[in-house]
Amino acid sequence: MVRYELPRLPYDYNELEPFIDSMTMEIHHKKHHQSYVDGLNKTLESIGGAAHPKYISAILSDLSSVPESGRNLINFFGGGFENHKLFWETMTPKNDGVPGGKLEDAIDVYFNNFDNFKKNFSEKAITIQGSGWCWLVFNPTYNKIEIITSINQDSPWIFQKTPLLGLDVWEHAYYLKYQNRRPEYVENWWNIVNWDYVGNRFDELA
Ligand code: MN
Repeated sequence: MVRYELPRLPYDYNELEPFIDSMTMEIHHKKHHQSYVDGLNKTLESIGGAAHPKYISAILSDLSSVPESGRNLINFFGGGFENHKLFWETMTPKNDGVPGGKLEDAIDVYFNNFDNFKKNFSEKAITIQGSGWCWLVFNPTYNKIEIITSINQDSPWIFQKTPLLGLDVWEHAYYLKYQNRRPEYVENWWNIVNWDYVGNRFDELA
């Protein structure tokens, strides 16, 4: 069966300073993300992981294939594993400011312009009640990009949507530095989005 491992970060814990502090990054990665990895492996074992050989995003896209006894746990831990993996990959200390290429064009089509897209995304992220994520996704049914939110560790894959960019707004992602000031965290996070990576993800879908 597939055994999942904590992915390495593409940068050091302190490299996203001052926007995300080193201690938050370390705890978030080593403790929180590790707990999703462990929970996912344990749940897969308990439901007979050999019967579910596909990668977790494919399992999440078809949760009905998972025995009901393990479905909620796969949703939570599998979502937590995959959401965080993408979260790390879509951040960088070398932010280049804006998306380019095809993604820039799509953002202009569906959100008028980049500033308006950022405004919409930030508003949605800030108003999530409790723990969750804000996403830029590709919706293959309508062949378009969208902003969606999800609660807890729900992944866009469970809605058959492909995540391109995700922002973690669980308090564990920002509380040490920002306490209750989620809007400030969201505003600062834009400084570390890896648009090259997000743009490449989008290109691969087209
Ligand atoms: Mn998190």
